[in-house]
Amino acid sequence: MSSPATPPSLHLESKVWRLAPDGSPRGYIQPKLLRELWFHTGTNCNLRCPFCLEGSKPGNNRLEVMTLADVRPFIQEALALGVEQFSFTGGEPFVIPEIAAILDHALDYAPCLVLTNATEPLLNRFQQVAPLLNKPFPLNFRVSLDHPDPAAHDLYRGHGNFALSLNVTEQLHRHGFAVSIARQSRAGEDPAAVNRAYIPFLREAGLPETTTIVVFPEFHEPGSHPEVPHITEACMTTYKSEQTRDQMMCNFSKMVVKKDGRMRVYACTLVDDDEDYDLGGTLTEAMKIRVMLKHHRCYTCFADGASCSEL
Ligand code: SF4
Repeated sequence: MSSPATPPSLHLESKVWRLAPDGSPRGYIQPKLLRELWFHTGTNCNLRCPFCLEGSKPGNNRLEVMTLADVRPFIQEALALGVEQFSFTGGEPFVIPEIAAILDHALDYAPCLVLTNATEPLLNRFQQVAPLLNKPFPLNFRVSLDHPDPAAHDLYRGHGNFALSLNVTEQLHRHGFAVSIARQSRAGEDPAAVNRAYIPFLREAGLPETTTIVVFPEFHEPGSHPEVPHITEACMTTYKSEQTRDQMMCNFSKMVVKKDGRMRVYACTLVDDDEDYDLGGTLTEAMKIRVMLKHHRCYTCFADGASCSEL
């Protein structure tokens, strides 16, 4: 724990990290296996959705743009740890200059998933993206279509963007790429009914009606602190089984981000706004660290099974 890449052990020992406010030991996940490695390509985005859990918008660099040189060592380290998939999120990954080169490299080693809003940045790079179909491993896309109602989607993403994203989705599918959909949930909704409401749009894009739809709850803006119940060790054994604990992302994945010019490993895709979840500069050391469930988004994972993963 003395390497310069290791975060100060102070916070790992601190009461706030280890204990809930009533003094009970916090619930935790001891990571078992690195199956999925996420890269956050930066919080620069061509859109400015007010609900973005990353606070991404044009010109934002809370999380910085990655280059192929930044990514390469983590791909090799992840492969040595047995990784099964590389996943990319933003911001909008297709605004970053080296995204096609990064995917081209990663696809030599494992399947890749890219989360995208499927608007101009992806459209503008289609010529670079199309040949990636011929790589040794498959490239899959997850397109954000927030609601099965174009007007509700366009309210925050801009007029005409539902139709554009659906059109780009159709192009991806026609080319031979697999596509899933990401949507936002609304309080009190009937999830099955909302998913069914996507079927006419899936048909329009030529996608099967069984297309995976990943549902995202309200995660709140980065740095926010909504009141949620604290998760204790007792909660994790009373309400969770070994199997459901293993399904939590911090058990089997990590996310690499670039902050202040340094590549850092965070516990999962949902906690990069809290420095306590900076687990170091290498995957090997990050995988050894017990992840305490103190972030408000941990409660969403715990109670609702929220996950960014499709594994
Ligand atoms: S947000 Fe979820 S996956 Fe991330 S550290 Fe908390 S419980 Fe684990």
